[in-house]
Parts: sequence; structure tokens; C-alpha cells
Amino acid sequence: MSGAGVVFDASRLSLPLRLSAEVCVVGSGAGGMTAAMVAAEAGREVLVLEAGELLSSSQMSQREEEMFPRLFWESGGRSTRDRAVKVHQGRGVGGSTLHNLNLCKRVPEAIRSRWQRERGLRHLPPERWESLYSEVESLLRVSPVPEESWSRHNQLLREGCRALGWKGGGLSHNRTGCIGSGFCEVGCAYDAKNNAARVLLPRALAAGAQVLSCCQAVRVQHQGGKVRGVQAVAVDPRSQRPVGEVHVEAKRVCLSASATGTAAMLLRSGVPDPGGETGDTLRIHPAVVAAGDFEEEVRAWEGIPQSYECTELLQLEEEGGHRSWILPAFAHPVGAATMVPGHGAAHREVMRRYPHLGVFTAMIHDLTAGRVRPEGELGLSIDYWPEEGDRRELAYGLWACAKLLFAAGARRVLVPTFPPRSYERGESVDELRQHPIEKGGIDVVAVHPMSSVPMGDDPKVAAVDSEGRHHHLEGLFVADGSLFPTSIGGPPQLSIYALGLQVGRALARS
Ligand SMILES: Cc1cc2nc3c(=O)[nH]c(=O)nc-3n(C[C@H](O)[C@H](O)[C@H](O)COP(=O)(O)OP(=O)(O)OC[C@H]3O[C@@H](n4cnc5c(N)ncnc54)[C@H](O)[C@@H]3O)c2cc1C
Ligand code: SF4
Repeated sequence: MSGAGVVFDASRLSLPLRLSAEVCVVGSGAGGMTAAMVAAEAGREVLVLEAGELLSSSQMSQREEEMFPRLFWESGGRSTRDRAVKVHQGRGVGGSTLHNLNLCKRVPEAIRSRWQRERGLRHLPPERWESLYSEVESLLRVSPVPEESWSRHNQLLREGCRALGWKGGGLSHNRTGCIGSGFCEVGCAYDAKNNAARVLLPRALAAGAQVLSCCQAVRVQHQGGKVRGVQAVAVDPRSQRPVGEVHVEAKRVCLSASATGTAAMLLRSGVPDPGGETGDTLRIHPAVVAAGDFEEEVRAWEGIPQSYECTELLQLEEEGGHRSWILPAFAHPVGAATMVPGHGAAHREVMRRYPHLGVFTAMIHDLTAGRVRPEGELGLSIDYWPEEGDRRELAYGLWACAKLLFAAGARRVLVPTFPPRSYERGESVDELRQHPIEKGGIDVVAVHPMSSVPMGDDPKVAAVDSEGRHHHLEGLFVADGSLFPTSIGGPPQLSIYALGLQVGRALARS
């Protein structure tokens, strides 16, 4: 393969397809597209395989029922095997950066120094992190969300924090030219997100990388301790069913299929891992929500969705401190209707108040180790239910959301437990601190799968090193959220892009 890069839809090509490349990258999200761009710009012949479609901003219709099936795995319905936790993950050229909310934050120092203490990470000393972050922040044009752009919904969280004397502040994002339409979660029709598709893909293509969309990798092929290539299938973009085979010969393969996809592929491919961590250390930042019914119209769907955070309960420096990160969270009408508790008239009554609702979420820095396994040739399964300490923290976060909503002026707070709970202004919400978080008893949602193939220096423990290089299979690399040694208690994308740079350079040198 040579010449200028193009994105081909594999399902439209003559199949079966046999290709070769110096480097084959599986997945085109934050980690994969960055690694591909860096390797291509260093002169490597790069082929990216992406299971999802290539979508332009003009195809982002702002309709949930159209965009969820196109932008999310399992049409947005991915969940743990027992259906107790929803796990949202993106597909498409650009991965989860197409639909994410563009928050950018570095991994807190307390967590990074713990990683260094416990896992070594000799290729990632503090000064390397510093330079990677600076580079990514400039590449994605990260800047604070201007205060004049904070929506009423976000201002309510600030008012709640101020009234309680709790810590909070503005967030940074990677947007330019944003008109505040509020549709980030279903893709930006205004091309205002400085994401993998807008910023990195054009550079990767200009450097000669080729991208095969609608092409799902099945396994890494290897022999005698060395990578040989990737076995994949072309998939129909609508039905997502396989329509033919694709074989890629490559001596270097970089898995960037996200913390679920990468671990599942490693296990399906029988890649050796004497430490046994692969797929057994998944973290997801589980989250719960509470909704406030305000006198005023909040119109929470308008504007930049998240620009203010409450960090009062994010006490990551303290041993045994709280681990809840609180943000405004809002769903478009279909999503909201599925989350609002109750049925029939009671449900209609709450939905009538939709313009008046404000919703806060508590997302926790989780300690629970979940499990990812391959399921058949193309699927995967996730087992995750927060362990006791994490359930206690979720209950505490739920209480904090309710407290903040009342402090911000809500006249009623609704908690989507089964059966639902409702508190009128003046009522105590303290019982929520001990609320039992039980399967099926409350909606638990996760949008940050990570840490399923944690990097580390010791090959007896870790499967990959801090350049994403697999310790036990020559030519294999990992570049995505799988690499985090623990969860991080904040938005992961910036650090995943940074690791993409780090791994891309190692790939280029290899
Ligand atoms: C609703 C929502 C909002 C979010 N908001 C933020 C935010 O504001 N800030 C933030 O930092 N993070 C946010 N995130 C999370 C963030 O987007 C992800 O953590 C990040 O994009 C993960 O990067 P990644 O490279 O690990 O995987 P992804 O970006 O998910 O990319 C993985 C890619 O691999 C592809 N793939 C998977 N399996 C295969 C296969 N077998 N073959 C070929 N391709 C495959 C997928 O289709 C996907 O395109 C949000 C996530 C969600 C769901
Ligand atoms: S709020 Fe901004 S980034 Fe989000 S969809 Fe609208 S224009 Fe795009």
C-alpha cells in the first residue's frame, strides 16, 4: 500500500480482501488515531481498521434514534452481562471522541505518582507526562470553557456548590467554533469538536495512512512469539453483520479497540499473559444520577453540556477520602424518558416537567475490578458490579447530588431508584447516604471503560509496558484506555490521546 491515505468502506470492496502494511492499528478512537498519525508521520506504512462507519458532520442529524445506532456499540444498549450497569461506548472513525462531551483534564498527580510507585512506568517519568500533555493540549486546542458560555444547568451546579460552601470550578474542553447547540452526545453537526476525526484523521491521511472503516478485527495472528497480522471481517454498517473476510499481514499490530475491545481481542487471540491481568482489571467510573425539579425553566438540553464540576468529594490525595466527581448530566428526550422512574400518568407527569429538570451525576473513581471476555467471534461480555466500598461511595455521591440540587433551588428532588424516591424541599435527604445500591434497584451508568490491560514494568505482572509494548508478543502494542493502571476520577480522553502519542512513537521506532 502506498500514496495518499483514503478512508475505504470495507463492506463496499470486493471481498475477501488481502492487504499488508508495516503497522496495522485496530480502532480509530483517541488512542488508535493518535498512534496511527504519529507512526504515519514518522514514515511508517499504516493501515487502520475501524469497525464503525466514517460519518461527516453533515450526517450528524441530531436525532437520538438515528445517531445512537450509528455512533454507539449495540446501538447504545451495551451493558454488563446481568444488565445491571449500562456501558456506553462509541464506534465510528474517531471512536468515542465523536460523541463525547469534550472535557479535558489531566490525571491527578496523586494518581500518577501512585502508578509510578506501584507499576514503575519507567518510560513515563513526570517530565514525559508533562510534555505529552502540553503537546496534546496544543494539538486539540484545549481551553477553559468561557464563563459566558456556561449554561443555566451548569450555573445551577455552581450555585449549589456556593450555597453549600463546596469546592467546584470551570472545566476545559477541546472545541472551537462551538455554537452551544447541546447535541454533543449524538455527534457535532457543526464540526466544532477538535477530536480524532477532525484533527488527527486528516493528518494521518496526509501522511499516507489508509483507513478501512466497517472492518471489525477478530483476532491478532501470531506465530513463534511474533505478530503476523490481523484477521478481520467487513461488516455491513447498518446491520453490523459480517459480509466477508479481511486479512492483513503486518509485523506490527497496535490494538486500540478501547478497554473492552482490546482486552477481548487479546484473550480471543490467545496472546500470552503470565500475570493474568488482561481483561480482569476493568474499571468504568460507575455513575448514578438525581434530578431536581426547578420553578424556572432550566432547559438543560441547551448549551455546552458540561462546563462546571464539583470536586468537594474528590479527595484523591487523602487515604480513604471520598471519590465522587459531580457534574451536570442531561439526556435528550428519548434517553430522559427511559431514565425517568415510574410508568403511565406518573411518568408523563415527570416528563411534562422536562424543561424544568436539572440532573446531577456522581461518577466515582472506582476500585472494583471488572472482567471483559470475548463472546463468540465478534462479541464481548462485561462483568462488573461495584464492590461494597464503591457501592457506599455511589450512595454518598447520590446524597451529594440531591443536596446540591436543593441547595441550587430545586423544589423537588427525584431519585431514579426502583421504586422511585421523591423528596420535597425542606425534607432531609440524609437517608440516601446509606441507600443500598442493589442490582436492578437503581440505574448505574458508565461512560469511561479503562484499565483492562494495565501497563507496568514487570512482565511477570503486567502484559504491556509504559510504551504500550506487549511484554510477551513481539510486534504487538496497545494504545487506548486499557493502559491505565487504575481508574482516574476524571475525564480520560486527554490522557488516552497522550498515551497514543507515546505508543505511536514507540511503534515508529520499532
Ligand atoms: C457519552 C460519553 C461522553 C464522554 N465524555 C467524555 C468527556 O467529556 N471527556 C473525556 O475525557 N472522555 C469522555 N468520554 C470517554 C472518552 O470518549 C473515552 O474514554 C475515549 O474516547 C476512549 O478512547 P479509546 O481510544 O480507549 O477508545 P475509543 O475512543 O472508544 O475508540 C475505540 C475504537 O475502536 C473501535 N473498535 C472496537 N473494537 C474493534 C474491532 N474489533 N475492530 C475494529 N475496531 C474496533 C471502536 O469502534 C472505536 O471506534 C465520554 C464517553 C461517553 C460514552
Ligand atoms: S455544543 Fe458545540 S460541540 Fe456540542 S454539538 Fe453543539 S456545536 Fe457541537
